Amino acid sequence: CGIVGYIGKNNTTKILLDGLKELEYRGYDSAGIAVLNKDKIDVFKALGKLHNLEERINNTTTQDSYELGIGHTRWATHGQPTELNAHPHLGEYSYVVHNGIIENYKELKEELTALGHKFVSQTDTEVIVHLFENYNNKLNDTTKAFHSTIDRLEGAFSILLITKADPTKIFFFKHGSPLIVANGNEKEEVLFSSSDAPLIGLASDVVYLEDGVGGIATAKGIEFFNDNYSWSTLPTSKQFAQK
Ligand code: GLU
Repeated sequence: CGIVGYIGKNNTTKILLDGLKELEYRGYDSAGIAVLNKDKIDVFKALGKLHNLEERINNTTTQDSYELGIGHTRWATHGQPTELNAHPHLGEYSYVVHNGIIENYKELKEELTALGHKFVSQTDTEVIVHLFENYNNKLNDTTKAFHSTIDRLEGAFSILLITKADPTKIFFFKHGSPLIVANGNEKEEVLFSSSDAPLIGLASDVVYLEDGVGGIATAKGIEFFNDNYSWSTLPTSKQFAQK
């Protein structure tokens, strides 16, 4: 029941894990992260405590120079708490983390299955990543594909999505569950979180997203769009005290 995200030059894996620890109070049954380096995405998931995820990551040989990543603690609503159902969820080349419930996931799953998409989890969340890839395969434009995806979703959904098709970006949208985006204290650093606890000490320039607001973040900055998908300037950001 929590989301974190990071773009920047510090240790991505550690920042995501530390952030998830700060969100533990929100409750969860499993956790996972997807981290990207150039066009390679590594994913780690574990059932139960974050300690299990941490061990999973430490026992797997990986580089620590990941350029960006997304993380999630899950409170299962659709599908048992299992490792397979833990987020992030994968399509062919993209990963998504999601807080909330996609109310029309059954129709979407049927539609996408008929188009040849293969589902591996029992979650409502998995439709998001397949919808995105379906549109991206057709349109060959990740921004338009993300917009088209958001257009089709009903329910509550705060999401972060990364894709090998556009590997310098984190796509985000907030509707229902909380989501914050922030410029990090260091240059070319962007952070995401469900609450401000993980951001204290790392960022002071934070935006508490309103429902219906999303956008695209890269190391160079954050672009926002609203429900009508007109690109807008930075919503009013708030400052909070440093640790
Ligand atoms: N509905 C999604 C699931 O069951 C997300 C749950 C959450 O917000 O953690 O996987």
